[in-house]
Amino acid sequence: MTYIVLDLEWDSTYFVPEKRFINQILQIGAVKLDEQFNIIDTFEKTIKSSISKRVSGRFSSLTGITSEDMRNGIPLQEGVNLYNEWVGDGAITMTWSNSDLYTVVENQKSLLNGTKFKIEKYIDLQSFIQNEMRISGIEIKSQISLSDAAEKAGIVIDGYDMHTAKDDSIVCALILKKYYNKERFSELIKDTSKDGFFDKISYKPQFITDINDENVDKKELEFFCEICKNKLAQKSKWKYKNHCFFAVMYCENCKKKYRARISFKKTFDGIVVKKRLSVFMKRPPKITATAGENTNEMQSLSEKM
Ligand SMILES: [Zn+2]
Repeated sequence: MTYIVLDLEWDSTYFVPEKRFINQILQIGAVKLDEQFNIIDTFEKTIKSSISKRVSGRFSSLTGITSEDMRNGIPLQEGVNLYNEWVGDGAITMTWSNSDLYTVVENQKSLLNGTKFKIEKYIDLQSFIQNEMRISGIEIKSQISLSDAAEKAGIVIDGYDMHTAKDDSIVCALILKKYYNKERFSELIKDTSKDGFFDKISYKPQFITDINDENVDKKELEFFCEICKNKLAQKSKWKYKNHCFFAVMYCENCKKKYRARISFKKTFDGIVVKKRLSVFMKRPPKITATAGENTNEMQSLSEKM
């Protein structure tokens, strides 16, 4: 069994055919590990962009790759083919957070004409390491950066060029070696040929903004009194704000006024509905406009309630 730590460096560039910015891959870096997570081989190719002549200042200062380096690189397709040959068969590929996979999917779709990165089995190293660090008692907020993780792991990174693809991969390997747990690691391995793995990666969840959308289940728009459990009467139209629909509801039985909130999020796996009912709060009494600013504040406050 071999393991691959893949690390891509990309630059956001305007892509004329699609009239939008895309994250084009400008460096492919990876290390190959044996079963004890010793580094047995490394891979690094700088890519020549097919859509731009220069790199952004931000990219250049982050990675050390200049526009000239980029222009001296090889075409993306050639880079991916060389990478796939180098990976070989049956390896488990890891990346630090799955944002690299979003970039892989985007580049395959827009720039690679059918050529695909060879990623058979996959594991998100960031989520594995975060979990292991938490278990070992280290306090972690979500989405720890690679250099923060290295620091918390007590790995000295002074000798490495962070944000060059190869050195990032080496640091990943060192952290993994320190925190490896066979059972929990195996549980996180995903087979990318199954369950629409890459479709899921490229799917962007969206909130439904129209209450008459065909994906809105009308049954979900019913709310029930918290006291008598009767169906509430809707007293205002649904109003959309901050991903949610709001309406005033009323229980004829208890003479109680409620505020209903509901959101519909379209995800790869279906529609996720979230709903909440709260007791209707009266707006604070209107203050006569003596100080303009304060009045505005009060009004926006009462709108939020
Ligand atoms: Zn009631």
